[in-house]
Amino acid sequence: MQFVDLPGQQKRIREKIDANIKTVLDHGKYILGPEVDELEKKLGGFSGVKHAVACSSGTDALLLALMAYGVGPGDAIITTPFTFIATAEVISLLGATPVFIDVDPRTFNLEPKQIDAVVSALKNGSNDYPLPGICKTSSLTPKGLIAVDLFGLPADYDTVNRIANENGLFVIEDAAQSFGAEYGEKKACSLADIACTSFYPAKPLGGYGDGGMCFSDNDELAGAMRSLAVHGQGGNKYDNVRIGINGRLDTLQAAVLLAKFDIFPEEIGLRQQAADRYSEGIKKETGVVTPFVPEGSGSVWAQYSVLAKDENHRSDIQAGLKEKGIPTVIYYPGALHLQEAFKILGYKAGDFPVCEELTRRIFSLPMHPYLTADEQEEITAAINTYG
Ligand SMILES: *Cc1c(COP(=O)(O)O)cnc(C)c1O
Repeated sequence: MQFVDLPGQQKRIREKIDANIKTVLDHGKYILGPEVDELEKKLGGFSGVKHAVACSSGTDALLLALMAYGVGPGDAIITTPFTFIATAEVISLLGATPVFIDVDPRTFNLEPKQIDAVVSALKNGSNDYPLPGICKTSSLTPKGLIAVDLFGLPADYDTVNRIANENGLFVIEDAAQSFGAEYGEKKACSLADIACTSFYPAKPLGGYGDGGMCFSDNDELAGAMRSLAVHGQGGNKYDNVRIGINGRLDTLQAAVLLAKFDIFPEEIGLRQQAADRYSEGIKKETGVVTPFVPEGSGSVWAQYSVLAKDENHRSDIQAGLKEKGIPTVIYYPGALHLQEAFKILGYKAGDFPVCEELTRRIFSLPMHPYLTADEQEEITAAINTYG
């Protein structure tokens, strides 16, 4: 059994992918070819956002977004410790400081009620909230916030945006896992000042290599990101108006993504069907908690992640499933504030108890559009033996 069945998907669209790749080889515009432009238009339209800027990865999308705001040393960027390293890595890369807040135990997304508390602690230099050690000796300016749509479920943007605005913070949506998800009448990638997604192969809309996209309704920010992704170029290639990066999306990746996007809306439905089968099939008596989706939101199920009762319960279930040839993965086994890479921030165990408990209990089941009812029956039956 596959955790993510990319070969199954390829079988459906191989001809279209081959044809799209051939077109690129024929026209030879490998950098910023017409496919990149077409992909930006299609994905921007799909998400209901004015500007879409293709780039080299989800990580670079986040980097470009922070660079567009001029983030640098002395700035505090608030985010969640329960995410992939890239979300916080880009903050440190620019010399700014990631400042973590804890997450909601049901949605696993950042808890917006904690924004006020962390901002006032930053401003008053108080000890009321766990802060990076650097705050003891120098004061950081709370500048922005990165919310993550973990496992494909949008964060609580109504509340996040309101509280962030009250505190003068910009908001970036890390939609690396949520392209195609729903939030009320809106779609993921349209929920904050800038949104960033990823086309890493295993993401809901994945290419055959690295890729990403930034989205914004703001003309100035979009223009800055487009320039930053091409060495800070101005009017032409050799007119450089800012320090940027080489962060373009390859034309070949855009060609692959266009073929995949054709069946993407249908795949969202299939993912939802697979999620429903799991949620109905896993018995409450096992103590395994299935995912919570708030009223009005729709996950795109980048992962189907459940909570075991505790660490031992989790290892027992994972071992049992493995014996039956069913793969599971832990996203994420370590909270970011306790990672070696962020040791310099000086956080300690216990600072973000909800997040830390999740890292001990969470694991993800196989999830992709081509899971069969039989396969899922086998998976849920295996889980249901662990009461
Ligand atoms: C995958 C991911 C990223 C980074 O995307 P890449 O394309 O791999 O660089 C950033 N944030 C989150 C939440 C992710 O899951």
